[in-house]
Amino acid sequence: MLRLDIITVLPEMLETPLNCSILKRAQEKGLVQIHLHNLRDYSTDKRHRRVDDYPFGGQAGMVLQCEPVDRAIASLKRQRAYDEVIYTSPDGETFNQSVANQLSMGENLIILCGRYKGVDYRIREHLITREISIGDYVLTGGELAAAVIADAIVRIIPGAVGDEQSALSDSFQDRLLAPPVYTRPADYKGWKVPDVLLSGHEANIREWELRQAVERTERLRPDLL
Ligand code: SAM
Repeated sequence: MLRLDIITVLPEMLETPLNCSILKRAQEKGLVQIHLHNLRDYSTDKRHRRVDDYPFGGQAGMVLQCEPVDRAIASLKRQRAYDEVIYTSPDGETFNQSVANQLSMGENLIILCGRYKGVDYRIREHLITREISIGDYVLTGGELAAAVIADAIVRIIPGAVGDEQSALSDSFQDRLLAPPVYTRPADYKGWKVPDVLLSGHEANIREWELRQAVERTERLRPDLL
């Protein structure tokens, strides 16, 4: 079973997205455990539970300190071995389906969410094993990135999505965008569903889907081919 430990100063920001729909069911089915850890619980400042300080060099903004982060990660590592200690960062490797597939095969993962100007660089040098960006833009913190990563990882764990084939036939799994999908009614205001999908002819339908996937990928994302 996959276990995700997410370290954050804002656990409340992750509680809802990680406890709805497929992620909720996957946890109930025992396919994944997701644990949120408040970084402030590892602060040595008992009074204010502070975990950040001013940056050396005099720039604006605050930086997450080494000690609480080190204590949080060490406390988890004392309990089990981790495949990766991930830091969410705009300058990390760009998250995609293949990274999600790799991570979903792990057993224990830590995700550290940055805040403010980020975490003291020594943590990245000494404790982080993988840095992941969810795109070339800057968020206020790593929590939304952690939610994106967790969602993409969990939905491909076998059994998480009701019809397993459904997760595997999504865009990117075979370097192709997904074909269009339709549901009832077959004719809505004269907008018709392609005849082949109503034909009941399995082989023709699969062939049509593949042609659509290739055509859409060539047109919209030729870089994938
Ligand atoms: N000073 C940092 C920089 O320029 O790279 C940006 C800090 S950002 C305001 C605060 C935190 O949000 C980061 O430490 C990181 O954890 C998270 N974050 C922001 N954008 C992200 C992205 N595109 N992908 C993943 N995490 C991101």
